[in-house]
Amino acid sequence: MRPEILFPLFASATSLPGVGPRIGATIGRLAGEHVVDLLWHIPVSVVDRRNAPAIADVVSGSIATLTVTVDSHQIPPTKRLPYKVRCRDASGFVTLVFFNPSKKYLTNLTKLLPAGETRVVSGRVERYRDGVQIVHPDHVVTLAERTRVLVVEPVYPLTEGLTQRPLRKAILAAVARAPELPEWLDRALKEQRGWPGWREALVACHNLVVPEDCDPKAPSRVRLAYDEILAGQLALALVRAHQRRARGRPLVGDGRLRASALTSLPFRLTASQEAAVREIAADVGRETRMLRLLQGDVGSGKTVVAVLAMLIAAESGRQAALLAPTDLLARQHFVTVEALAGAAGVSFALLTGRDKGAGRRRTLSGLADGSIAFAVGTHALFQSEVVFKDLALVVVDEQHRFGVEQRAQMAEKGVGAHTLLMTATPIPRTLQLGLYGDIDVSTLREKPPGRRPVTTRALPQARVGEVIAATSRALAAGEKIYWVCPLVAESEILDVQAAEERHADLRERFGERVGLVHGRIPGPERDRIVSEFAAGGIDLLVATTVIEVGIDVPRATVIVIEHAERFGLAQLHQLRGRVGRGTAPATCLLLYAAPLGETAKARLRIMRETDDGFRIAEEDLRLRGGGELLGVRQSGLPDFRLADLSVHADLLDVAHDDVRLIMARDPALATARGEALRHLLYLFGRDQAIRFLRSG
Ligand code: ADP
Ligand code: MG
Repeated sequence: MRPEILFPLFASATSLPGVGPRIGATIGRLAGEHVVDLLWHIPVSVVDRRNAPAIADVVSGSIATLTVTVDSHQIPPTKRLPYKVRCRDASGFVTLVFFNPSKKYLTNLTKLLPAGETRVVSGRVERYRDGVQIVHPDHVVTLAERTRVLVVEPVYPLTEGLTQRPLRKAILAAVARAPELPEWLDRALKEQRGWPGWREALVACHNLVVPEDCDPKAPSRVRLAYDEILAGQLALALVRAHQRRARGRPLVGDGRLRASALTSLPFRLTASQEAAVREIAADVGRETRMLRLLQGDVGSGKTVVAVLAMLIAAESGRQAALLAPTDLLARQHFVTVEALAGAAGVSFALLTGRDKGAGRRRTLSGLADGSIAFAVGTHALFQSEVVFKDLALVVVDEQHRFGVEQRAQMAEKGVGAHTLLMTATPIPRTLQLGLYGDIDVSTLREKPPGRRPVTTRALPQARVGEVIAATSRALAAGEKIYWVCPLVAESEILDVQAAEERHADLRERFGERVGLVHGRIPGPERDRIVSEFAAGGIDLLVATTVIEVGIDVPRATVIVIEHAERFGLAQLHQLRGRVGRGTAPATCLLLYAAPLGETAKARLRIMRETDDGFRIAEEDLRLRGGGELLGVRQSGLPDFRLADLSVHADLLDVAHDDVRLIMARDPALATARGEALRHLLYLFGRDQAIRFLRSG
């Protein structure tokens, strides 16, 4: 059970003053639905309002807090002109300017700024003609409230329908609820680093005294980042320890099924595929349970390796499951399984959230009685109704899309089941140990033979006409083309609209051969469209990033990515990996909106320079500055909220050593520090790991 002292933090955010159902829902989308989620919503920048000059001394363009006497309200003759309030101090005049105020707003303004009274106003001051003005001041308060405004104000990430003020209010109320908790940090480490206590760190993160407090390197920020990393690694270690305690059952196949599957393949395995299969076979043949990560760039042929591993289980008369994060991917894997397992005469079934009714019941009973050897599916496989007769191997594709605990939970469906994790994003070596501990790794370094590098070009969006002309030529030559429109988390609707417009546009030109897929199109329909692209009448597929992971259409040779500047490097690399999967030369056209920022420029340059996923992963990490929110999930790196691996990567190794000591001295988390660490795990939603602690 969660410790009682944490209950207030796991109450709904709507229990905070000023957070009604509407703001609550918005905050829920932005940060999370619980009070604790607001604690982790940390500012990205600051507005320093401590500068309080006389009007005569203001620096144009800066933020200033002025103490003024209200002179007069100047009501504009027409509504198109701004409403002005003239104020002064001993040194001069300032005009407060309001464009398009509503009636209600105006009534408020006269109350807020009564003539003859003293007020404190804060905002960006500008010298305009021969006067000083503030357009829409951020704050107008009475003298008594002056100190409340004269501060370093945090700026939080926002979302549609939310402004700074109510969000800040909610966050401060959440911070006020944070209790003093027992210290879980190693005392020596904390002292050596000069880190504050947990509560103190939280308060400092949200109540900034100087702008430097908002720096990710500030002690309070580093401490919270460390907490998050420590919680993640400790959870990982607990799950691992549990898996180790439960002995594995050696899988030793006679190679018969693998051999017949291999003869059915139209190609030979690459040397790295062969090596990976050998490593896996050796692992699963041991008494300890395998936990191996198979990393290989997009198109390196991981699925074949996975299915061969599954066949080892089948050779011993046992079962295997292949998990994918999306329906689409699961269906695609199913096709590979069908080809290989089918050739070897092994029975298999697909199970996703969409499989219902009689078909689903047949699958469930087949898995339970062992007549189905392989299950391919999504999260639907986690459900408790899904029971295996004898599950021996769990393969998890795009492993970072699943929690550590989720993956372990899946392995629990078998006795001593082995786990193979797969990822298309090579984890930079510098991070491997810290993120995955002592996990074993197989790497597919080489791509299948005959692949040519994808020619990559970057063009400003203004040249979209040329791109359409090139598209036209490619279509005439019988090629297949992806056209990607970006998805920005803030407004799915608008993004879908953009994709729809582009689709209408291209359809007008190229007719029925143009298809459209995005997240709002129901799954079965989406699959139908994708398979029509793969093998039917659709030759040009307009898509949002739903196509990013895993779609495999070897005949596709061109990918156009609009607003490429909005994507992270790892994501661009993933997208580009959709083409160049066959033997024909392939092209990637990156359209960008000029002018490009430095980071975006660097990303597009790296994309043109290399298609080595390892180099891209390293560069991605280097470029991933604070505040870049896109593409984190896709990068293959865990989704941290407080830790920023481009700044805090050194903490990974520190936490790794820390966790090793904890596991050596107090693996049941029974000491005082162990108790405190349990609080930490709960705080970061790692309760599942605690379950493994108990049942271990
Ligand atoms: P990944 O999942 O690593 O991105 P896939 O497993 O989807 O890659 O494989 C990509 C494509 O390469 C598939 O069409 C697959 O059939 C093909 N392929 C896999 N291994 C080889 C190989 N050794 N030689 C030629 N083609 C291969
Ligand atoms: Mg794949």
